[in-house]
Order: sequence, then structure tokens, then C-alpha cells
Amino acid sequence: MTLQRLDPPTRTNTDLDLDAPGRSVARIGLVQSTTPDVEYGVIPVPVVVINGGAGPTVLLTAGTHGDEYEGQILLQNLARSLTPDRVTGRIIIMPALNLPAVLASSRVSPLDNGNLNRAYPGDPDGTPTYALADYLTRYVLPHCTFAADLHSGGKASEYVPCGFMTRMPHGRDSAAQAAARVAMGMPYTLVYDENTENRAIDTACDQAGVIMVSSELSGGGTVNLYTLRAARDGLTRLLNHWGVLRGVDAPATAGTRFIDVNNARSSVIAPGPGLFEPAVALGERVRSGEVVGWLHSVDDPDMPSTPVHVEMGGTVITRRVPPLVVRGNYLMSIGQEVDQSEL
Ligand SMILES: [Zn+2]
Repeated sequence: MTLQRLDPPTRTNTDLDLDAPGRSVARIGLVQSTTPDVEYGVIPVPVVVINGGAGPTVLLTAGTHGDEYEGQILLQNLARSLTPDRVTGRIIIMPALNLPAVLASSRVSPLDNGNLNRAYPGDPDGTPTYALADYLTRYVLPHCTFAADLHSGGKASEYVPCGFMTRMPHGRDSAAQAAARVAMGMPYTLVYDENTENRAIDTACDQAGVIMVSSELSGGGTVNLYTLRAARDGLTRLLNHWGVLRGVDAPATAGTRFIDVNNARSSVIAPGPGLFEPAVALGERVRSGEVVGWLHSVDDPDMPSTPVHVEMGGTVITRRVPPLVVRGNYLMSIGQEVDQSEL
């Protein structure tokens, strides 16, 4: 392993060479010196680069959160099977991005409690999660034309199978952003405003001028086969739309529905403790004021069940997975359909 000398320096050490011809496998080493067991060590985050010559560069990442699995499986398969003769340009694949979190099957890194998607633009002198975000921001994203960061709901939540779009305040590239979601063609595309979160890779990509897609592919701490198949076809369509694949096709999409999820009244919150029984499923439409479930007392059979109402009508786009709740837990979220022309 020949280490790269980076200037300005980072606290990662890596043999990544983005210009290596053909298919190459490298590691971004997160340096740790944390416990008596690990006085000094490196956590080697895997990177596969498939270089097919001139053309755009695409970064594909999964495992930003370690307990989200559909994207990890898609990218592990792609990293093993894709050959340079099928690529126009360059595809950088990182299927286990926050490797310590992936190994721990955890949303955050056990090393520093770091949530990678709240760590951008990162910190070269920070803990491993922040050092990794810094490396990506300074040494990977500036080389990229496009990026896709594949998320699912974690262990505690499940989404409709969807692409994910962050609407930036200045609206730069919004047509290209929307076109990428249409090409990907997941059944739904959720639209968030950046002002709800600007420490994610979405903002780092925007600032680097990278057209970026993310997703929420079911979740619940497991692998949903229907969504896995839909996302595999969607990713193939997206890479074809960006012009980096040759001779790899997927079935046509049935289209995507854009759903705005910015309304503060879109979350349904548990009004008290109990066992939640849902009355509506993911993807169902609800009306304003409708009963979307009931809370049952688990230790008082005489206590009547409490109906839970939705404040605002729309489509159920995500739900909490564990049914036992306390007051204030979110139970589900509702979004409102918008036309692509409004994005
Ligand atoms: Zn995630």
C-alpha cells in the first residue's frame, strides 16, 4: 500500500489514486488511538474506483449510517461486478462509508458517536467521523460531477421507497436535480428544504458544484427485497441518465411522485405513552383530521384506547418501526404531493 501525501494534511491515511486505470481497490484509513486495546490503529474504509477513460465522475456511497442496508448491498454488488469496459468516465464506489458504524450495525460511529451526515464539511483535526467528512469534502468531491448517497430508514423507521431531494436556498441546478430523480424513477421523491439540515453531504455536494441524489430505501433495520429490486433498477437508470454506463439497462420506470415534506405539521407525534396500532400504511393517502391509529395502555385494560389524529392530509411517507412509544415519539410523517414544475 503506497500512501498518498496530502497537502494540506489530513488525519486519514490512504492509498486512494482516483486516476488509477481500470478497476482498483483502495482504502481510506481512519486513524484511531482510543483505548488500551488500540493504542494506534487504522480503520480501512474501502473504495473501489472503476476508470473507463474520459467522461464524468460519479461518487456512489452507502453506509453513511451503518444500520441502513439496501444501499450497502446494491453498492457491494456493483463494486464486485462492474467492469471498466461498461463505464464511460469514472465511478467511485464506497459501499461502507462510515465503516465503524457499519461494523457496529449502528446509525452513528461507536468511536466518537459521530453521525457522518451531520459532520460535513468535516474537520481535518476532528474525530474519525469528522476527519472522514473532511477527506471527502476536500479530496473526493472536487473531482466529482455527480454523486448518489443511498440511505434507508434506520432500525427505528421505515420509508416509502424513494429518491430524496434537498431543495437548496439559491435553487442552483434545481432542474438537473429534479431530472435526475425523474430518471431514477423511484415510486416517490421526497423534497426537503436545506434550511432543515445543512451539515449533510447534500450541502457539501452543492458547494462543490456536484449534482447529487440521495434516497430512503425502506429500512427498519432489515433488507426489503421489493425496494432492493426497485433501487437496483433506479440506480441503473440514474447512471445511464448521467451517461456513465455502457450496455447496462433496466426496465422503464412507472414514474415518480414528488412529495413535499417541509410542513411543520407533517409529523404525527404520540400524545402519550402506549402501544401504537396503525390504521394506515406507508403510501396511503389520509385526510386532515383522520384517525391514523390508536394508542393502547399496556397495563390498564380499563383505560380506553386513544385515537391518534393527523393534523394535515397527504401521503404517509415514513413510519416509526418500534410500536411501544412514549409521549413525544414521532409515529409517522405525512407529505403533500407537488408538481415537478413547482420544485
Ligand atoms: Zn441514513
